[in-house]
Amino acid sequence: MSAEIGRIHRPIKGEPLIIHDVPLWVHTSMRVGGPARSFARPGNPAQLQHLLRWAEENGRETVVLGGGTNTLFRDAGFSGLVIHTSALRGWEIAEDSIRAGAGENLAQTAWRASRAGLTGLEWACGIPGTIGGAVAMNAGTRQGETADVLRRVEICTSRTQSTVAAAALDLGYRTSALQSGELPAVVVEAEFRLQPAAPDACLERARSLLAARLDKLPRGASVGSVFRNPAEGPAAGELLDRAGCKGMHVGSARVSTLHANVIINDGKENAADVLALIERMKDKVRATFGVELHEEVVIVPVSGRNGRQASDVDRKRRTRGATLGISPPSFRRRACVLFRTNRRSRVSKEGVRKMERSADWMDEAQGDLEHADNDLKGGFYNWACFSAQQAAEKSIKAVFQRMGAEAWGHSVADLLDELSQRYPVSQRHMNGALELDKAYICARYPNAHPSGSPRSRYTEEEARRLISHAQAIVEFCASLLSKAQSD
Ligand SMILES: Cc1cc2nc3c(=O)[nH]c(=O)nc-3n(C[C@H](O)[C@H](O)[C@H](O)COP(=O)(O)OP(=O)(O)OC[C@H]3O[C@@H](n4cnc5c(N)ncnc54)[C@H](O)[C@@H]3O)c2cc1C
Repeated sequence: MSAEIGRIHRPIKGEPLIIHDVPLWVHTSMRVGGPARSFARPGNPAQLQHLLRWAEENGRETVVLGGGTNTLFRDAGFSGLVIHTSALRGWEIAEDSIRAGAGENLAQTAWRASRAGLTGLEWACGIPGTIGGAVAMNAGTRQGETADVLRRVEICTSRTQSTVAAAALDLGYRTSALQSGELPAVVVEAEFRLQPAAPDACLERARSLLAARLDKLPRGASVGSVFRNPAEGPAAGELLDRAGCKGMHVGSARVSTLHANVIINDGKENAADVLALIERMKDKVRATFGVELHEEVVIVPVSGRNGRQASDVDRKRRTRGATLGISPPSFRRRACVLFRTNRRSRVSKEGVRKMERSADWMDEAQGDLEHADNDLKGGFYNWACFSAQQAAEKSIKAVFQRMGAEAWGHSVADLLDELSQRYPVSQRHMNGALELDKAYICARYPNAHPSGSPRSRYTEEEARRLISHAQAIVEFCASLLSKAQSD
């Protein structure tokens, strides 16, 4: 299997960018977790192997992160290298199968298969997360699971790249050899064996399964089910319910009143509350039924064998925001950074209610485009790129807001991916999104390793191009909104 698959061109070449002190709450659906000491998004297997070797040589533990929908990082973060798979993209449909890169969205892949008249993945149409995460966790529902349809996967270690049959992964109930550590490798791509069927029938089945799920699924920041079902007896949710856990809370973490196996994070960034609540839930079930519950969610220890404990300095940095990573070359630049930091935090504190309406998001998007333009004129090219990315992100959020839907994506590319489940998104916008996301990372966290990347400083020409990408996405979203308004 080739890793260079699918429609989406991978613009990433050369050595991958490694950045530091990246807040992890941004990259998880529970929205908690401190900083990763190092963080990178490989764009292809060669970059992935480069990163794995870099970690070995520097004595860093690694953790692979897909959609972060089943992962919990602690408040002290992770002291090794987080390998984020969001740039391992691409997909291809054949007569009886679909192949997809590890960073592709699972639900979107399932919808694609259904639209193409391939049946077997419909159960996945409402499961968040990536293909890699689904393989590692053997994601599934009562209607089906990854193991039922997975044919083979392409995996990488620091020195090898191979294709293995699904049987080699020892897929079990929400686990695999990748997860248990028996096969320490990273999934790059997966192929699912499906059956040809009428597209309408596949889509109908997918829609009805999704509708049934949405009825039962609590809203809010969560990781879905926290605990595995015990091998025998009632399900974890039932045990927790009967033990009186519904509505229990620690700080900003509370047990959903709709589903006792789901914790909702009402606050921000506080993993300690979530972890304390998990312990309380286990205690309750142990005391009531004598049953020991085991977590399905992956709780990542702060340091691995060779890792460094995240220091107090790291923790401070996390709370003060990653803009601290910026080393301004001049007072003028520093003033600009401070102005923006304050402006943005004021927006996030005061604007939460305002942003509930899509029109406000759209206004914000337009404002960010203006900022991008001003920064470009002032010679602050990195900030121009940053604002352009923000504009694109906000305009897509406006569309989700209008649909009354919740978006899972944490980047423009992810959000566009999600949007493409409902509207046709062009290749041009998708490529623009990938470039904008890269610019965002470079602008916010320019302490790249080793010794900065050529992209950690953007030129005027590049900034102009990125602004035009953002403008195109904003216009596209505005047209979707006006269409929705007239419908
Ligand atoms: C609202 C909600 C509902 C959910 N419903 C369900 C459900 O019905 N059924 C279900 O099974 N799950 C469910 N989940 C949990 C979660 O969506 C799945 O487990 C999903 O497959 C995780 O994918 P991810 O990419 O987010 O994985 P992550 O959380 O990023 O990672 C999970 C694990 O997989 C590993 N991993 C990720 N990518 C790779 C890779 N490329 N190579 C090797 N290892 C990798 C990680 O290291 C980690 O150990 C739900 C979650 C939420 C938030």
